[in-house]
Amino acid sequence: MYDVAIVGAGAAGLTAAIYAGRKKLKTVLITGPNIGGETNSTNDIRNYPGYEGSGPELMKKFWEQAKTWGAEVIEDTVGNIKHTKHFTLTLSNGKQLEAKTVILAYGRERRKLNIPGENKFFGRGLSTCTTCDAPLFSNKITAIIGGGNSAVEGALELARIASKVYLVHRREGFRADEVTVDLARKEPKIEIITNHVPVEITGEKFVRSLVIEDINTKKQRTLDVNGVFSEIGWETHTAMVAGLVDTNVVGEILVNELTHTRTLGLYACGDLTHIPHKQTVISAGMGAVAALEAYRFVTVGKN
Ligand SMILES: Cc1cc2nc3c(=O)[nH]c(=O)nc-3n(C[C@H](O)[C@H](O)[C@H](O)COP(=O)(O)OP(=O)(O)OC[C@H]3O[C@@H](n4cnc5c(N)ncnc54)[C@H](O)[C@@H]3O)c2cc1C
Repeated sequence: MYDVAIVGAGAAGLTAAIYAGRKKLKTVLITGPNIGGETNSTNDIRNYPGYEGSGPELMKKFWEQAKTWGAEVIEDTVGNIKHTKHFTLTLSNGKQLEAKTVILAYGRERRKLNIPGENKFFGRGLSTCTTCDAPLFSNKITAIIGGGNSAVEGALELARIASKVYLVHRREGFRADEVTVDLARKEPKIEIITNHVPVEITGEKFVRSLVIEDINTKKQRTLDVNGVFSEIGWETHTAMVAGLVDTNVVGEILVNELTHTRTLGLYACGDLTHIPHKQTVISAGMGAVAALEAYRFVTVGKN
């Protein structure tokens, strides 16, 4: 029986592991293959207090520090969590673990385009991380799909590197901040194409073109591009905690200011919660709160 099981080893889970370890809780940290989480996607962190540098380097520091505080680490994914008197976690290898408290810190997943060519060209000209992969497209023609801040900021970032950037959005208006959209409109390298959806990515070994379709006329157009960036948002998976948490309209886990979910002893922190501003420092802060609340529950018996 563990005092606390932490699910996920991004900024939130690793910080929770440091705090739980320092409180001498019997801790297990279960994580999928991406140790360090989404922060690994960026090579340029400039807003983490006390640190400026690459995301993977920062997360390596988190990981090394977490390991020194004695959490048992299991590299596997959690498929299901049940709650009776305690929590029972079922891993994808079928093994089951028992814990008095659970901290959910497994982040969220990028939404897929679900079009032909997406799987074939992922990593071969199709990227879901503008920040990471824009430098690969120096003087190349690119397209970026989406209408939020990530897409429009991504288009501006690409325009500094690529020779041309198509910004393809399915609606007329953008969700991104007006001021950012204005900058994109003024940037000569960016061509904004609204009311169009992507229907296929084509090429041979690498991306050669993106086929888009006018949502009104259904007329298709082929953009000859070397790279496609998908910036269309994220999904939070909550099937593993079905019945144990409440979610908002976009499926994020609802928590109070102390990271409590609606189940006693079950905490959630970081990007998978409804708290806006998904950032490394915010996830880390929430991970600390969750571990301290788990400690309070284990020692005092209630929150
Ligand atoms: C391109 C990009 C650039 C960014 N730049 C910045 C920046 O400059 N500054 C900043 O502050 N933030 C930045 N962010 C945001 C930041 O990366 C996230 O807010 C942060 O990673 C969230 O941390 P997390 O621990 O909540 O989740 P994640 O980092 O998503 O970590 C989730 C962890 O859970 C594991 N996991 C997933 N499913 C399971 C499962 N079923 N069982 C067990 N483990 C599981 C994963 O392997 C991973 O280890 C950026 C994000 C991206 C994508």
